[in-house]
Amino acid sequence: MAKRSTKSSGKRIYYFGKTRTEGKGVGKDLLGGKGINLAEMTSIGLPVPPGFTITTQVCAEYNKKGEKLPRGLMDEVGKYIGMLEKELSKKFGDDKNPLLVSVRSGAAVSMPGMMNTILNLGLTDVAVVALSNATNNERFAYDAYRRLINMFGDVVMGMEHESFEDAFSKVKRRYGVTDDTDVPTEGMVELCNEYKKVYRKHTGEEFPQDPLKQLEKAIEAVFGSWNTSRAVRYRQVENIRGLLGTAVNVQSMVYGNMGDDSGTGVAFTRNPSTGENKFYGEFLINAQGEDVVAGIRTPQPVAEMPKWKAPGMSDIGKKVHKQLLGIKKTLENHYRDVQDIEFTIEKGRLFMLQTRNGKRTGAAAVKIACDMVKEKLINEKTAILSIPANDLTQLLLPSFDPAAKRTGTVLTRGLPASPGASVGKLAFTAEEVVERTLSGETVLLVRKETSPEDIDGMHRAAGILTSTGGMTSHAAVVARGWGRCCVAGAGEVHIDEKGRKIKVNGKSYTHKDTLSIDGSTGEVMDGEITTQHPKLSSDFKIVMGWADKYGTLAVRTNADTPADAKRARDFGAQGIGLCRTEHMFFEDDRILIMREMILAHDEGTRRKALAKLLPHQRKDFQGIFTAMKGLPVTVRLLDPPLHEFLPHEAKSQADVAKLLGLKPADVKSRVAQLHEMNPMLGHRGCRLSVTYPEILEMQVTAIVEAAIACKKKNVDAQAEIMIPLVGTAKELEVLRAKAEETIEKVKEKKKYTGKLDISIGTMIEIPRAALTANEVAEHADFFSFGTNDLTQMTFGYSRDDINSFLPDYLDKEILPNDPFQSLDTTGVGQLVDMGVTKGRQTKKNLKVGICGEHGGDPASIQFCQKVGLDYVSCSPFRVPIARLAAAQAALGNSK
Ligand code: PEP
Ligand code: MG
Repeated sequence: MAKRSTKSSGKRIYYFGKTRTEGKGVGKDLLGGKGINLAEMTSIGLPVPPGFTITTQVCAEYNKKGEKLPRGLMDEVGKYIGMLEKELSKKFGDDKNPLLVSVRSGAAVSMPGMMNTILNLGLTDVAVVALSNATNNERFAYDAYRRLINMFGDVVMGMEHESFEDAFSKVKRRYGVTDDTDVPTEGMVELCNEYKKVYRKHTGEEFPQDPLKQLEKAIEAVFGSWNTSRAVRYRQVENIRGLLGTAVNVQSMVYGNMGDDSGTGVAFTRNPSTGENKFYGEFLINAQGEDVVAGIRTPQPVAEMPKWKAPGMSDIGKKVHKQLLGIKKTLENHYRDVQDIEFTIEKGRLFMLQTRNGKRTGAAAVKIACDMVKEKLINEKTAILSIPANDLTQLLLPSFDPAAKRTGTVLTRGLPASPGASVGKLAFTAEEVVERTLSGETVLLVRKETSPEDIDGMHRAAGILTSTGGMTSHAAVVARGWGRCCVAGAGEVHIDEKGRKIKVNGKSYTHKDTLSIDGSTGEVMDGEITTQHPKLSSDFKIVMGWADKYGTLAVRTNADTPADAKRARDFGAQGIGLCRTEHMFFEDDRILIMREMILAHDEGTRRKALAKLLPHQRKDFQGIFTAMKGLPVTVRLLDPPLHEFLPHEAKSQADVAKLLGLKPADVKSRVAQLHEMNPMLGHRGCRLSVTYPEILEMQVTAIVEAAIACKKKNVDAQAEIMIPLVGTAKELEVLRAKAEETIEKVKEKKKYTGKLDISIGTMIEIPRAALTANEVAEHADFFSFGTNDLTQMTFGYSRDDINSFLPDYLDKEILPNDPFQSLDTTGVGQLVDMGVTKGRQTKKNLKVGICGEHGGDPASIQFCQKVGLDYVSCSPFRVPIARLAAAQAALGNSK
């Protein structure tokens, strides 16, 4: 989230150019990412066409005034246009040498959701003739004019792109050509007239002939685009909040479509998929910028650029390529990060139109960080801070099992746009994806190309497959950002959206068929191919090593099986912070015994059933202690309400009754007796052990017996017993005494005289426990914050049905994010802070951790570091993320 600028001095517009550069250092919160970087590139001497940026503050004013431009703004804009005219010796709307500009949005955070770029603004019926004369290139001038009318119609007037497409197709047919570039000059002139008619028909007005009027409307359209539902939705999905709005960048035009000695391209200073240190991108000869991004024509890789020759300029490609490699170095030395750039070549002259930190996959982020440390561009601390912790998930993503893949049929190959492996049935629109995923299907979104309107569907799809577009097309950029598998530009896939089918090399597939796509190779394969989990690179290990070097919080895992425990240990977990024992009761061989125990009428029968459960628990604990030998394992005693273990359907109740020799009516009535309206607040947690101490006894016995068995085998078991849902110190006092008594009994029975060192602690999940933590700590060796329940009880939101209203709360910004995902630091956080402080007032060295879901969330980990927790505990796959986030938190706090 960007901080609001403190430098907003009321200045609304900042110039960048040879004559002066005003914006350098102002901050991207005010100038937007594009604006600030145009100013910086200009100031470090890169070839940037001059222009100016209208601040995000003006967008905020525009919104405040009910979507109206602030008074006097256009007069100021006029002055800045004057400065541009002076620097370039051109005039806006001139009949000799007209100045043309591009208009682009640009917020502090890059948002592919806002595609509102207008090129060639300033062209009119008069200026087009002048441009044609000035450049001695009539076709070029009219090509530029038709693009403006089209873009202006689309972006400013909200017209359908298809209306222009139809007119273009007609002209192409008339001249018997298929490619845009083959339309002759007369065709372009005709096309402009057709486009103006289409414009008039759809808008009821003439295409504006006053360039300043064009500019005013375009500026308004950029500001307006901040509020379109697609932009709002993107910010929601990406959790981008607290920005002022978008800036507007007005920049003098350079032309990539002036002939075969011109072109345009987009590139990354390093490969954004793999991180390889190779200049990487695509370019198109004789084209304008949007052609590359929109995926209308298929571009060439920049590696091929040296082969580009133009009439009279046989070394054009070599020269430009060399210049770009020089710029790569300059930019990386300046920004000390990978850059994502846009450039244009006008008659052999290179211009930089944009730079920003390049989005990259998690794998690329890790490799780039390691390489840049080796190259001495950055130090280890900067490297750690450069990797978004959540993106490590992508390194832990599945790939296809090589053996299974070898037997699979590759139907076609597209571009490896975003790595990973996904399998699903075909869905053809974003809406279809939403519908089908909600009803439980796994689908791939298959589209010609994607646009911001598809965001929702893209987000829910298992993978994305497109038939046009390049590595920097919308689908590729967005999918990469999310770590979603994507194959782009698979040109052999012919999509029939209405018929809900595709044709690939003679074979047809419908919405009922399954395909597998490999985002790392671009392969599209028939049917379902088995996936497997990835192995981690040596760079990953280096990063994890740095993380552990700089992090101070320990990272444990939440695991209930030896296999999970082992996986987490392999990921670097330093212990188990939460073993939910109830998960051990759901397996086939135990659930019936568990039900027998719950349905027992008296203590004696209950104890008999518990005695049958004991060996299972003991075996599980022994397995877990062994997997985690030498590391602490916090075992939580039974927590959920008992009715969760019982069947609720009549038929299943009758089956259970038969199996246990009971009357069905007995089972039914016990289920009814146990039923609760608010199970999460009911007879659960430590309350179960108060009512049924024999359950605690069985579990503690199993833990101690398992620990003794391990010790006898020389396995260093480090058990910790955790009592859940404590609200008063007395509960813990009573149960601790019971647990200690049980420990002693078992030791005696097993004639074990060695040390066991089993500590006994509690979860802090109830606000009252946090408020009285000084009392609770009297009886606890450790605290573990159960922030799932603590959040539930602090907000009064049920963990199970918050989604019935959460979307509204997020939409209306009542909540900044889902408090069950990211800790509410201002509210729930106060209780955590208080719990730690009060607990340590009683016991100075009280060990304190967190085991709610927040333990794996980087933002929450930041908070845990701040309030002085000793450890966080999270699910196994999040352990590496938590380790990195812990290091980032430690480094952030030490700044
Ligand atoms: C918690 O409440 O935060 C917790 C870890 O326990 P559970 O999710 O099992 O209720
Ligand atoms: Mg809980």
